[in-house]
Amino acid sequence: MKTTERKILLNPGPSTTTDTVKNAQVVPDICPREKEFGKIMSDLAKDLVSIVHGGEEYAAVLFCGSGTICIDITLNSLLDRDKKALVVQNGSYSERACEVLKAYGMPFIQLDQPIDRVPDLSAIEKVMKENDDIGYVYMTHHETGTGLLNPIREVGEIAHRYGAFFITDTTSSYAMIPIDVHRDNVDFCMASAQKGIMGMTGLSYVIGRKDLIERSKDYPMRSYYCNLYLQYHYFETTGQMHFTPPVQTIYAAKQALIEYFDEGEEKKWERHRRVMAAIHKGEDELGLKEMLNRDVQSGLVSAIRYPDDPNWDFDKIHDYCYERGFTIYPGKIEKKGTFRLCALGAIDDEDIRDFWKVFREGLVHYGVEIPVRYNG
Ligand SMILES: *Cc1c(COP(=O)(O)O)cnc(C)c1O
Repeated sequence: MKTTERKILLNPGPSTTTDTVKNAQVVPDICPREKEFGKIMSDLAKDLVSIVHGGEEYAAVLFCGSGTICIDITLNSLLDRDKKALVVQNGSYSERACEVLKAYGMPFIQLDQPIDRVPDLSAIEKVMKENDDIGYVYMTHHETGTGLLNPIREVGEIAHRYGAFFITDTTSSYAMIPIDVHRDNVDFCMASAQKGIMGMTGLSYVIGRKDLIERSKDYPMRSYYCNLYLQYHYFETTGQMHFTPPVQTIYAAKQALIEYFDEGEEKKWERHRRVMAAIHKGEDELGLKEMLNRDVQSGLVSAIRYPDDPNWDFDKIHDYCYERGFTIYPGKIEKKGTFRLCALGAIDDEDIRDFWKVFREGLVHYGVEIPVRYNG
C-alpha cells in the first residue's frame, strides 16, 4: 500500500488520517445501488449509533455533505407547525443554527449566553417555563471556535422536563468525548466523517430517536434535499440513500470505524487528552495565553490569544509551520486575534512536541520575543 507524506493537522477538522483510511478509498468502481454497497451503509449506520450507545431506539441517517448539512436538517425537519425552537447561543456554531432558522423563516428564541463560560441553566429553564410551545432545545456540545464544552446532560434534562426534545451539535466531540445518548439526555446528535472518526470529508450523519423521526413525518416539509424523515424512510425501505452517496468516503469511513473500535472509546479519548496536555504544556513554556479558562475547555481545542509583539504575524508563523508539515488555524472570535490548536485526528503527543519545536523556531526566525508578551 502506498504511504502518503504525513501532515499534522492542528485545525479543527478535517483531521490527520491514517494511511489505511486514505487507501481504503481506492476500491473497484461500484454502483452504489448494488446490495453489496447497501450492506456497507447499513453496517456503518449501526456502528455510528453504537458509538453513542444508542441501541435499537436510535438510527443513524447518512447524508452527503459537510457537517453543516446536519445542522440544517435537524433544525428544519424536527419542528412541528405550532412550535418554536430554542437555541442556546454561545459561539459561532450555535450562531450558525440561528442563521439557518432565520433562512427558513422559522419561529425561534435565541438565548444569548457569554462565549467563554458554560451557559446559565436557570436562564434556559426560565425560557422553558415562560414558553409552553418550545418543540426542541438546540445547543452545540463543543463550540469549536473557542473550545468551550457545553453541559448537554443538564440542558437535555431541562428540555425533557418541559416536554421538549433536545438536539445537540456534536460534530466536534462525537467519537472523541464519550457520549451516551441515554445518560446524556440526547434525542438527536450529529457529526461528520472528517472529524471524530478520522475519515474523509463529504459524509455526515444525524443520529436520533426513531420514534421522533417517525413523528416528524407530518411536520411541515421545509426542504426537499435536507429532510430527515425522507432520507430515513428511503433508507429503511430500500437500503439506499435517496441520492448519490459519497461512495469512496463511505469506504474510508468503514475503515475508520474498524480503527475506532480497535482503539476503543476510552483509549481514544485518553489519547486526545494526552495530545491536549502536550498542547497546553507548550503554551505554558512559551507564555502563550488562551481565551478560555482550562476548566471550561473541551480538551479538544485551545484558542490562543495573539501575542502583543510587533513582530508577531499569524500568517507568517502559519506559513513557517505549514512548510514544515504542521497546519495551524485562525480563530473564529470576532475582533479578538486568536488562533487555534486542536487535538483531533490520528496524532499523538510526540507530534505536538515536534510541532512546538517548529513553532518556537518560527518565533525566533521572525524575532518574536520568548516568552511571548501581552499588554495585560
Ligand atoms: C466542523 C463543525 C461543523 C460543520 O462544519 P462544516 O464546515 O460544514 O463541515 C458543525 N458544527 C461544529 C460544532 C463543528 O465543529
